[in-house]
Order: sequence, then C-alpha cells, then structure tokens
Amino acid sequence: MIPARFDYVAPESLDEALSALTAGGEDAKLLAGGHSLIPLMKLRLAAPSLLVDLRLVPGLAGIQRENGTVRLGAMTRHVDVAGGGLGLASAAAATIADPQVRNRGTIGGTLAHGDPASDMPAVLLAAEGSVTARGPGGTREIVAADLFEDFLTTTIGEDDILTEVRIPAMDGYGFGYHKFNRRQEDWAMVAACAYVKKAGDGTCEDVRIGLTHMASTPLRASAAEAALRGRPLDAQSIAAAAEQAAEGTEPPADLNASADYKRHLARVLTRRAIEDASE
Ligand SMILES: Cc1cc2nc3c(=O)[nH]c(=O)nc-3n(C[C@H](O)[C@H](O)[C@H](O)COP(=O)(O)OP(=O)(O)OC[C@H]3O[C@@H](n4cnc5c(N)ncnc54)[C@H](O)[C@@H]3O)c2cc1C
Repeated sequence: MIPARFDYVAPESLDEALSALTAGGEDAKLLAGGHSLIPLMKLRLAAPSLLVDLRLVPGLAGIQRENGTVRLGAMTRHVDVAGGGLGLASAAAATIADPQVRNRGTIGGTLAHGDPASDMPAVLLAAEGSVTARGPGGTREIVAADLFEDFLTTTIGEDDILTEVRIPAMDGYGFGYHKFNRRQEDWAMVAACAYVKKAGDGTCEDVRIGLTHMASTPLRASAAEAALRGRPLDAQSIAAAAEQAAEGTEPPADLNASADYKRHLARVLTRRAIEDASE
C-alpha cells in the first residue's frame, strides 16, 4: 500500500531536527526505525506532512554503563539492546519480532510509540527507569510511571525528541521474562517481566513485576508484588502472589484472546517470570 504524500528531511544535528520538527507543525513526525510509523502510513492510519529522520543525528545511539545505571541512546536498535548483556532489557528485546525488525527498530521509537503490546515499556516500568526528552522549552526527565498515558499516547510532547533512556542496572536482582504469542515473531498476547531480590534468609527483599498488553498502557502488578515482599521465595508463596497478577488490570479483548483468557495468561506468565527471577 502507498502512503499519502509527505516531505522528508534528514537533519545532521539535534538542534536542526528540533527546528525542523517545530517548523513542520502538528503534522510533522519523527522517523526512527520506521517499523511502527511506516506501516501506519501505508495503512493510511497516519498521514504526516513531514518526516524528520533521526538517522544522521550524531550521538543518539549507543549503550553506556554509569554509576549503576544503563544509558541507552534513543536510536539504539533492538538488536544492540538484545546483545548488550543488559539482563531483563536484553531478554525482552530479543523477543521483539524477527531479525529484520530488530535490526531497524529502536528503543526510543518503541517507547515514544506507546503501544501497550510492545515489549520494552513494561521493562522500563518495572525497572523504574526514565527517559530524557528535549524540546523547544529545554530538556526534561520523565520517569517511566509518568510516561505512558493511554493507547499509543505518551507524555512526550509533539515537539519533543526522546534522546536517552535510562534503566537502573538492577544489580543483585534476578530477572525473568515470559511472553505468550501464537507465532514467535508476533506481538505479545500478554507478557510478564519480573525482577526479584533475595534476602540472606531466602525471603523476597524486593520484587518488581511489569505486565504487557493488560490495559491501554503497561502496568505494574502491584498486588502480586505486595503479596510476595517479605515472603519465602518458595513455590507456594510465588504461586499465591502470581494469582493476584491480574488485579486492577483491564485487558483489551481482541481476535486472539478474551479479557478473561488474558487475565489467566497474566497469572501464569507472572508465576513463571518470578520463578526464573528467583533462581
Ligand atoms: C512485523 C512487525 C512485528 C513487530 N513485533 C513487535 C514485537 O513483538 N514487540 C515489540 O515491542 N515491537 C514490535 N514491533 C514494533 C517494532 O519494535 C518497532 O520498531 C517499534 O515499535 C518502533 O520503533 P521504531 O524505531 O521503528 O519507531 P518509528 O516507527 O520510526 O516511530 C514510532 C513512533 O515514535 C515516534 N518516535 C520515534 N523516535 C522518536 C524519538 N526519538 N523521540 C520522539 N518520538 C519518536 C515516531 O514519530 C512515531 O510516532 C513490530 C513491528 C513490525 C513491523
């Protein structure tokens, strides 16, 4: 299918990209890997008048570790996150689609797009990470809990460029990622990620659980987290906590699964993710 007509620029600095985006008005869009935006344009669900391609802007890609935090440039591609030895973030990125998509799609693009079926948003939420957005008014940090507003809607402004993603290294935590889909390259019907920190006596010192596709935004499974904190990390406590994984969720029913089936998946996948994270 053929997209509607659009203009295209590929600026060579962040300032030029910001100027082009602002000058382009509300119909201008940033282009990163293009693996969400271009399909929408081909389906005529999006018809930007101007695409501002970020691929020539220097300094927007790369992974750095600094004082317990992993800093990823917004244009870092899924394939590099998957191979970057970043624990849960790498495990989740490795499940995104197929090699073709992972070689083009970027972490900034997937977080800015705000698709609740995407893999990385729930990971950022569980790790309590943040992003940096640069706009005409300056630079601001947005913590993950404030980033995802609704289906395909984030708090990154229309004139903002997401420049960096920060994920705590989560040293001392185990992790697990379980995603359920019909074919390996599909989006998650539901996915659950977990970080678990074990105390010296074998109880759960801390646990963070993120859910994918259980509402119009990624969610924390707060009831399950509260049920496990301070409890022994044995099969019984883990299963009891995971039973609460769907509390407070509003999963959208779709062609693949009813809301009830998604709640069932959330409970099962959360149990498996916690089990892996506790090993
Ligand atoms: C066949 C297929 C299967 C897929 N399967 C999965 C999957 O299983 N799991 C998954 O998580 N994803 C999946 N995806 C989506 C893929 O991960 C995309 O790469 C990702 O969602 C968007 O990243 P992108 O870099 O391609 O962004 P683009 O498509 O270029 O942009 C997406 C949106 O974000 C905006 N944007 C991009 N970069 C920035 C920035 N730096 N600052 C502000 N706004 C920005 C754009 O303007 C646009 O609105 C799939 C895609 C395809 C085509």
